[in-house]
Amino acid sequence: MKLVCVDCNKEYPAESFDYQCVCGGLFDIVHDTKHLDAEQLKRVFHDRLSERMTPYASGVWRYKELIFPELAEEFITTKYEGNTGLYSSELLQSYTGNRKVLLKAQSENPSGSFKDNGMTVAVSHGRSLGYKRFTCTSTGNTSSSLAMYASMAQGESYVFVPNKNISLNKVLQTLAYGARVISFDGTYDDGIRFYEQHSKELGLYICNSINPFRIEGQKSIVYEIAQYLNWNLPDWVVIPGGALSNVTALGKGLQDLKTLGFIEKVPRVALVQAEGASPFHQMVSKGRTQLIPEPHPYTRASALNIGNPPSWKKALRTLEETRGVTCSVTDQEILDAKALVDKSGIGCEPASAATVAGLRKLVSQQIIDKDETAVCILTGNMLKDTDALHEYHLGETSKGAFRNTIQSAELSLENIARLL
Ligand SMILES: *Cc1c(COP(=O)(O)O)cnc(C)c1O
Ligand SMILES: [Zn+2]
Repeated sequence: MKLVCVDCNKEYPAESFDYQCVCGGLFDIVHDTKHLDAEQLKRVFHDRLSERMTPYASGVWRYKELIFPELAEEFITTKYEGNTGLYSSELLQSYTGNRKVLLKAQSENPSGSFKDNGMTVAVSHGRSLGYKRFTCTSTGNTSSSLAMYASMAQGESYVFVPNKNISLNKVLQTLAYGARVISFDGTYDDGIRFYEQHSKELGLYICNSINPFRIEGQKSIVYEIAQYLNWNLPDWVVIPGGALSNVTALGKGLQDLKTLGFIEKVPRVALVQAEGASPFHQMVSKGRTQLIPEPHPYTRASALNIGNPPSWKKALRTLEETRGVTCSVTDQEILDAKALVDKSGIGCEPASAATVAGLRKLVSQQIIDKDETAVCILTGNMLKDTDALHEYHLGETSKGAFRNTIQSAELSLENIARLL
């Protein structure tokens, strides 16, 4: 295993771990995979589906050979993350116009979001280096995931949260897991800059998406989709983008599967951003080669409220390697799509529903065909943002097309019979 700079290709041994190259570029982890055999690994991964209380019962560590082969088992901190459902829904098929859509519910992770897939690997790596103090800045889900794993590992977590546009539920979850939460006046991007400069002096292990071990863990999402579908991936994978770590991990995971011979054809990736925080989509759709940060991002989908995504170069590589596309959707489109994901019985938080809204848009634009197969990745749980539920279903100014409000009735047989 080695670290390779995304910008200048300089290589570093894994032991000299850092978050950035001397040139300022982010790192990719590159494994030595020459000795790996896809058919043999498929059998190993299959056998591990019957594991229970070992690290291999995790939907991340099941694929340890492709994620972090060198790590000694004693450092693994797991909550058996991953192992999430892959569902079909007639309601969402008809809403998106895509007849084959499946939903991958990363919302079913232990802390309620896909951040667990990456965080289990970052915290385990930090422990292997001897760290006991972990940090991140976050719009919410990263911090609750970090707080959960740090506590499981009997360490401490220090979480920096912007004081605006975040979901209270996520902060409460983070506090409840025992993190020290520090609220600051600024954006997510300001938080990242701060501890990029100061984490060393403070003895903190950084668990943001600039940490390449999180990307390694998040690759397991597409490994699991592939395994559940008997190593036949769909034509499209639709994913939301904020900091762009997840789309980066998706691309890297797909490359692994292709290079090692697990799959023959790489699906195309559709990345969906919220219109008010869509600097990456703007760059791609305008044919620019440099990302122009959005200084005042705003979307109701708080997990996507990022104006200067650190991983944009890696994300661009995913698009290139998969003949990918981008699109943006409005907050109202996101909230209506979310209402239907919830109504379908699957449920998700607003950011996740950008995928369903995006698929609907891409089908209507005939970029995705109605008969192509597609998987939408649902990134977070519906209870992560109960304010959004309240506003949509009970709010007086809600424009929700699929509102479901409370009805009051007197308990008489006649009344109730009429209501039913
Ligand atoms: C973090 C997050 C995203 C965005 O993922 P990035 O890797 O930042 O692009 C989307 N949805 C939810 C629920 C998240 O927590
Ligand atoms: Zn470099």
